[in-house]
Amino acid sequence: MLSKVLTILRRISKIIAENDDQALILDEIVKVLAKNLDSEVCSIYVFNDDREQLVLTATFGLNKDLIGKLKLKPGEGITGAAFKSGEIVNVANPREHPKFKLVKGSGEEKYKSFLSVPLNVGGRHVGVLNLQKINDEPFTPSITDVVKSVCTQIANLIISSKMLKELATDSDEAQAEVSKKKKQVVIRGVSANAGIAIGNAVLFAKTDYFAEIRPERTLAQAKEVLLFEHALKTARKEIAELSTKAVSLISEADASIFDVHILFLDDKTLLDAIKQKINDGYTVESSLKFVNDDYQQRFSRLQDQVFREKALDLKDILLRILKIVMAMRSGEVRSDDIEVQSRQIIFTNELLPSDLFRMPIDRIAGIVTEKGGATAHVALLAKALNIPTILGARDSLENVRADDEVILDCHAENVYIRPTENVKSHFKDMIQLSSRESEEDYSDEPSVTSDGREISLRGNISLISETSILKKYGAKGIGLYRTEFLFMIRDFMPAEDAQFQVYSKIFKEVKDDEVTIRVLDIGADKALPYLNFVKEDNPVLGWRGIRVLLSQKELMKTQLRAILRAGAAGKLRILFPMISCVSQIIEARQVLSEVESELHAKNIPHSDNYKVGMMLEVPSVIFALDEFLEYVDYMSIGTNDLIQYTFAVDRGNEQVAYLFNPLHPSFLKMLKFISGAFRSRGDKSLAICGEMAGNIYAVPFLLGAGIIDLSMAPRNIPAVRKVIRAFTMYECVELLEKVVGLGNPEAVECLIKQEFSKKGLKS
Ligand code: PEP
Ligand code: MG
Repeated sequence: MLSKVLTILRRISKIIAENDDQALILDEIVKVLAKNLDSEVCSIYVFNDDREQLVLTATFGLNKDLIGKLKLKPGEGITGAAFKSGEIVNVANPREHPKFKLVKGSGEEKYKSFLSVPLNVGGRHVGVLNLQKINDEPFTPSITDVVKSVCTQIANLIISSKMLKELATDSDEAQAEVSKKKKQVVIRGVSANAGIAIGNAVLFAKTDYFAEIRPERTLAQAKEVLLFEHALKTARKEIAELSTKAVSLISEADASIFDVHILFLDDKTLLDAIKQKINDGYTVESSLKFVNDDYQQRFSRLQDQVFREKALDLKDILLRILKIVMAMRSGEVRSDDIEVQSRQIIFTNELLPSDLFRMPIDRIAGIVTEKGGATAHVALLAKALNIPTILGARDSLENVRADDEVILDCHAENVYIRPTENVKSHFKDMIQLSSRESEEDYSDEPSVTSDGREISLRGNISLISETSILKKYGAKGIGLYRTEFLFMIRDFMPAEDAQFQVYSKIFKEVKDDEVTIRVLDIGADKALPYLNFVKEDNPVLGWRGIRVLLSQKELMKTQLRAILRAGAAGKLRILFPMISCVSQIIEARQVLSEVESELHAKNIPHSDNYKVGMMLEVPSVIFALDEFLEYVDYMSIGTNDLIQYTFAVDRGNEQVAYLFNPLHPSFLKMLKFISGAFRSRGDKSLAICGEMAGNIYAVPFLLGAGIIDLSMAPRNIPAVRKVIRAFTMYECVELLEKVVGLGNPEAVECLIKQEFSKKGLKS
């Protein structure tokens, strides 16, 4: 035995002396050991202290593609168990070992005995060495003795050889990395929802189980087909459960939110392709992999971003089936579910709605993803669930470690990883302040100027859940309900009844006040997967708003039917978006009349005393106001788009954001002109619902122009009300007169800030 040990050690020393490359050295060592110890397989896992993982670093006999990729936690599988306990594991029939974990695609299925020996030096755990054999008897004591001595020597040799240098440099780098990681890192992204979140990081990595699958043949096709059919059934059940959870959490959702998954599960072409592979003699797992690879390739060739995103949904559903099949075959459930402790912030590369609904949503304090933008499905859901979320935070995963303290500032779109004490105390103060604010009730203060003119303050909302805060802030009804969310969280157009339910809930919440429902304003940055949006060079000037509606009459009619039906329960105002020509509002009204007549003819209860309005957000309207006013009861100024189109400045482009200024004297002059044109039309009313209405510095100018019906994000109402109560109407008129003669927005800002400070208003 001694001579065998010596022979092996001599060989190993020679390998180390002759080679520089760590991978090559280990590769040679496993070959020598396998051959000299009568084993078909020899593998070495090296422990990465930084990541706390055992990494397959060399193997003879297993699939080499897994080198560097196969990672086990201490305690995971037989290898992890040997490492964690520091004890040798020597078993025949490893599948019967409680810790056995089959590494799919490794090729280890056929080996019937397993020896796992921890590599330790002076109490330091360095890794694990495994031997595997076809023969189903445990390794003999003489072999284990050889391995034990060799392992001690290997661990020592590793530590005291050239590899030590490498490891030392590595660990120097790792040390530097660790100290770098202790520092605060700030990462920018795109905010999907307002709010601030403070919590600890939890990392969510979805395992791509397809990577483990190698093509494998079987003769038991009939059995495989049955297995597949069974997995399909289970997948359907799981999706139904997810839908139920979604519906219980989001009022806008209905069971159709996961329809795209069901659609894939029912897609004959897809299912036939998988079955064909099974009939060709492949296992279900291999067949799923073949089909997934094929579809992913085909999707990636598509131009349309929305369709390309569907590839993710397809992969999601195929992975679900794969996991079910794997679990049924091995009896071991594979789960990507993460344990979210209270108030944790999830960091992930990307998140699908199905991932989100599998998590304990009430414990999630925030979400950070590396991929995705504000229109991603998950962004909409995060908004609906009121979870502070930052998407597109590139390199966040590289910088964060599990449990790091994190602050998400969704207003400034910053993610603070390991924030400094200063940053922490700043945000803690802000959170205290806002929670104090949120306890206050503002509903009693009247919205009147100091000379007694009543100003109407309404809320802008996109979600049913936002209706609850309208009352608290004292909003008089809804001045703008953006209906896009309802359409965007689905992969299909919401049915009339689904829409009716949602609109009805809003009327129920708002009770006696007016509810302004804007007909779908889709296009520009908001596409719908089920409408044929072709790529446009200038989407903001392209197929959006009323232009989409008038070319999709069925969609428009369905929505109007649902709105009119729901409106029977309250005071309805309908609002048409993006009108630029009179013919559009004429046609829109015709469609509305048709819908109303149809409802009437069918005796379906509906509103018959609603008001009809249009957004004033395209400059062409301003110089033909009278003609437009023939067809509407009111207009609502959409300053977000009106500024965009007036100054030719993309409202979402940071590079030109400095040109987007509602306090620009030209724009204030424009508002004055619009409002003046309404003065002679006492029967028609003018409102404003763009962000400008919630801008405290703009408010005196709006009042000065005579615009006294303001709709804004509900949380802005208290501050705006304070401003209203501080000025007289006369002062506002005078102020506006003064600023329209100024040369630039900075001068306007300066003047209004001075006025604020005279009145003791906080700037
Ligand atoms: C606007 O353009 O000002 C507006 C209120 O509409 P949206 O922001 O939805 O385009
Ligand atoms: Mg608009």
